[in-house]
Amino acid sequence: PADHILDGTGYLTNREEVFTKDMMKRFKQATKSYDKPVEIVTQAEAEVTEKSKSTEKKTWKLSAQMVRDFGFATSRKFIWDMMAVKIGERDVMAVSLYSKEGNPLWGQWSTMAVASTLKSYSRMTFDYPYHKAISVHAPMGMEYPMICYNFGRPDAEGNYSDRTKFGMISVIIHEVGHNWFPMIVNSDERQWTWMDEGLNTFVQYVAEQDFGEWNPTALSAGMTQYPSRRGPAKNIVPYMGGDQDFIAPIMTKGLNTYQFGNNAYGKPATALNILRETIMGRDLFDYSFREYTERWMFKHPTPEDFFRTMEDASAFDLDWYWRGWFFTTDYVDIGVKEVKKFYATSEPNQWIKDFAAQRGMEMSDLPPLVYMVEEGSEEFEESLRNGTLLDNAPTVKEYIMDNFSEKERSELKQPKYFYNVTFEKPGGLVMPIIVEYTYKDGTSKKETYPAQIWRLNDSEASKAIASDKEIVSIKVDPDLETADIDTSNNSWPKEIKQSQFDKFKNQVKN
Ligand SMILES: [Zn+2]
Repeated sequence: PADHILDGTGYLTNREEVFTKDMMKRFKQATKSYDKPVEIVTQAEAEVTEKSKSTEKKTWKLSAQMVRDFGFATSRKFIWDMMAVKIGERDVMAVSLYSKEGNPLWGQWSTMAVASTLKSYSRMTFDYPYHKAISVHAPMGMEYPMICYNFGRPDAEGNYSDRTKFGMISVIIHEVGHNWFPMIVNSDERQWTWMDEGLNTFVQYVAEQDFGEWNPTALSAGMTQYPSRRGPAKNIVPYMGGDQDFIAPIMTKGLNTYQFGNNAYGKPATALNILRETIMGRDLFDYSFREYTERWMFKHPTPEDFFRTMEDASAFDLDWYWRGWFFTTDYVDIGVKEVKKFYATSEPNQWIKDFAAQRGMEMSDLPPLVYMVEEGSEEFEESLRNGTLLDNAPTVKEYIMDNFSEKERSELKQPKYFYNVTFEKPGGLVMPIIVEYTYKDGTSKKETYPAQIWRLNDSEASKAIASDKEIVSIKVDPDLETADIDTSNNSWPKEIKQSQFDKFKNQVKN
C-alpha cells in the first residue's frame, strides 16, 4: 500500500521515488547526526497516516550483497528514526521502526542502543561491514541480516518498569549483535547453537556494560552499571550447580538439549567472560577473539575452528578449559581444606629423629638444619610464640651471618609467621585459585595461583606462606568471579551460616 513505510535487508535503490521531499531532507540530516536520532517520519505524521487506508500501491526496491537471508518490515503506523555511526572510516546508519505504542521508550532508546551496539561489537570483532542496522518494534526478538525485531512496550499510559526498559535495550543489543554471529561469522545454528547464541550473548554482555557507561541517563536510580542478566559468573551458579540429570554439555545439538537458554546462551557466555577476565586477561583474549572473527567472517566455522583460533592466536594452551566447560557438565568448587601454622626451630623434630634412626645415623652426623614445628603439635612449645625466627632458629642466624654482607642482611625480611594452606577441589572444573588473605592489622592481600597449580594433582594443592603479619582469615574467590557453586567451603576459619530453622529458634528464645 502506498501509505506504508518499509525498510529491510539491503540498499534502498529507489529512495527518490518512495520518499517525500521532507523525508529526503530529514534523511540527509540523519546521515550527519552522530549523537542522536533524527525522525524521518514523526509520531504526529504516523498518527494521521494510520487513520485511513490507501488503495494505491508503491514499490520499495532493496538490493543486498553478502547476506545469507533477508527480512523486511512494513506498516502505515511506523515512526522512523535514524542516526549516523562512525565505524572505522565509514558511516553506518542506526535505524528504528516503531508504532506510537512503543513510545516513549522506543523513541528514546532504540536507535541509541543500535548505535552503541555497532560500536561495541566493531571494537570486539571487525568493523560492521553493512551500511545499516534496523531495530523493529515487535512482540519478540528475532534476527536477520541488517534488520531485527525486538520486544519491549510501555503500558497504555506510557509507563514502564526497569524490567521492560532493560529487557528492550538488551534484546536490541542481542539481535543487532546477531549480524556478527551467525549472519557474518557464519556458523551452523541448528548444529551448534552456542556458536552464535553463546558468542553473541558474551559480546552482548560487553556491549551492555558499554551502553551503561556511555548512556548513564539510561540507568535507574542507584545503579552504577548496566544490570546484565547473563555474563557475570555468579549468575550461572544455580544452573551449573543444579540437577545433573537435566544438564548437558555445551557441545550438544541445540535442538536436543535441556535448559536451552542456559546451555546455549548463558553458560558459553559466562565461560568466555571468565576466560577473558580471570584466565587470559582482556588484552590476550580480545586479540584472539578478534582474530577468530576476522578469520571466519563470511565463512563457515565449526567449534574446532573457534577453539583452535583462540589457542593459536594467543599461544595459550586452553585444551583443559574447552574440555571442562564445553565437553562436560562439571562445575567449579574450590575450597580451603586446612591451614597449619608453623614455627622454625633448630631443635630436631620427631620426623628427623625417625629419619636418622632408620638410617643408623646419629643426630651429630647431620649438618645444621632448621625444622618446622606445627602449632599445637606434641613438639610445639609455647615459648616459640615469643621468639623471632632468628631467636628460635640460631642455625638460620649463623647461616645468615656467614653468608651475607651487612648491607644484604639489613635488606632481608624476617617473616614471623609460617603457614601451609591446603586447598581442595571437589568440583571437576579447573580454575585459578583466587585467595584473599586478611591479616591481624586489618589489611588484606589478594593472590591468584594460576590454573596450572592443578596440573599434577586434580584434587588438592598446597601453598607454603611466610609472612611478617599474622593471617586471621582466608577467603577463596572473594569477588565471586569463578562461578564456584558451593561457597560454604571457601573460608577459613569456616563461616557458619545459620539455617532458617536456627534463626527461627533464636528468635523464639529471645
Ligand atoms: Zn539470539
